[in-house]
Amino acid sequence: MQVLYKSTRGTGDKITASQAILKGLSDDGGLFVPDSIPKLDVDPETLSKMNYQEIAYEVMSRFLTDFTEEELKACIEKAYDSKFDTEEIVPLVKKGNAYIMELFHGPTIAFKDMALSILPHLLTTAAKKNQVKNDIVILTATSGDTGKAAMAGFADVPGTKIIVFYPKNGVSPVQEKQMVTQKGENTYVVGITGNFDDAQTGVKKMFNDHELAKELDQAGYQFSSANSINIGRLVPQVAYYVYAYVKLMERGEIQNGQEINAVVPTGNFGNILAAYYAKQMGIPYGKFICASNENKVLYDFFRTGCYDRNREFILTSSPSMDILISSNLERLIYRVAGEDSEKNRELMGELTKTGTYHITPEMEDGLKEFYGNYATEEETARTIRKFYEENQYVLDTHTAVAAEVYEKYLVETGDEKPAVIASTASPYKFTRSVLTAIDPKYGDMDDFTLAEELEKLSGVKIPKAIEEIRTAPVRHNTVAEAADMPQVVKKILKIQ
Ligand SMILES: *Cc1c(COP(=O)(O)O)cnc(C)c1O
Repeated sequence: MQVLYKSTRGTGDKITASQAILKGLSDDGGLFVPDSIPKLDVDPETLSKMNYQEIAYEVMSRFLTDFTEEELKACIEKAYDSKFDTEEIVPLVKKGNAYIMELFHGPTIAFKDMALSILPHLLTTAAKKNQVKNDIVILTATSGDTGKAAMAGFADVPGTKIIVFYPKNGVSPVQEKQMVTQKGENTYVVGITGNFDDAQTGVKKMFNDHELAKELDQAGYQFSSANSINIGRLVPQVAYYVYAYVKLMERGEIQNGQEINAVVPTGNFGNILAAYYAKQMGIPYGKFICASNENKVLYDFFRTGCYDRNREFILTSSPSMDILISSNLERLIYRVAGEDSEKNRELMGELTKTGTYHITPEMEDGLKEFYGNYATEEETARTIRKFYEENQYVLDTHTAVAAEVYEKYLVETGDEKPAVIASTASPYKFTRSVLTAIDPKYGDMDDFTLAEELEKLSGVKIPKAIEEIRTAPVRHNTVAEAADMPQVVKKILKIQ
């Protein structure tokens, strides 16, 4: 069955999967969504015998129906290869009262690799399929992890350039070092004097700037997005929720058909939405436990039905979740509004104008599978320490937020179904926060000594990604005001 894509703010016009991947964001400012979520018509027992790549093919081929089998398999083979430090790609380890789904075994040791190692291949395949002559310019706003993972994916991919904007003072030292040392003749990194939302808003504006698009086209370029608003990022993420379920079945941890819960440390709402899509495909997920840090917009939203971004932006130890506008939530809003793009457009208009919107009680009914809660900085640190003491396993700060919220969920609901916690980063990416949570004595050490200490403590070898940036030279040092982002882009592309 063919799956087509329509905009959450559109008139109902549909385009193919490859066109949606190329465009990233719809011209009307909406996000592309499948016209229906395909069912995964493969027996779970059969799926459980497959490896990660095979399961990824089964899942992705249902969504990306205009890609041939050969094209899609080639993309998957190039993405999930020895760049990952384990053949399993996504190990599932039982720790405490949940299964930790380790999504951080890719080249940049964060879960963004799961989608960004494949997106460049989907995108260049899509360009070929649609006879695109222009070079693709990827614009990306990052709260720390996306930027590096996107550049690692796109570096020196012919026919592409990538420009990454990050909040100059809003990412961890390791995250910044990872980005500014990025290799590749087609990669550009720009620090923004502002927060992540400023960077993201700036990028969205450029996507909607028709004048700029014209100028670019004349120079032989067109924009696309590697942000999680691109459907080409969302679809690959559905695969690991299917994989986790059938692998737990294969191990005899759960029975075929038994419901499990998913706990997801959430920022832009992409990862948790992928879990929701896995359920729509027919995988028996129960609740989606949405974990926030002190930027708890989503927690408030799930409790009250009111989305309100008018609040202080808090810098936390889980920077990839320091977000006040969760872009992918729009896809869920659209769905619970009964796929009413008029209604959705109205709400998103409110959000832009006033920073807030209220959903109707009927729409709230559609959110029953979601549970939101949050962890304070203190709770997050305490969870890291406690989890280490009890399991000799070191959680990163983001995963710790999820573990803490899961505890709150258990206390509040008593729902003890098996649960998968999405572990979105290696603790090596946030060594200082993680180690000082375990013992304040680590406070005075430099970042690389800390990595050695973490190796001793956890028994997990220092990942290649960290070894590499130790000696890598800084290649990028541009800093700009958020308002000047279009000028910066033109300068990089040499159009004036
Ligand atoms: C991006 C990111 C998140 C948030 O994921 P979303 O899909 O944006 O909700 C959580 N943890 C880490 C480490 C991340 O990089």
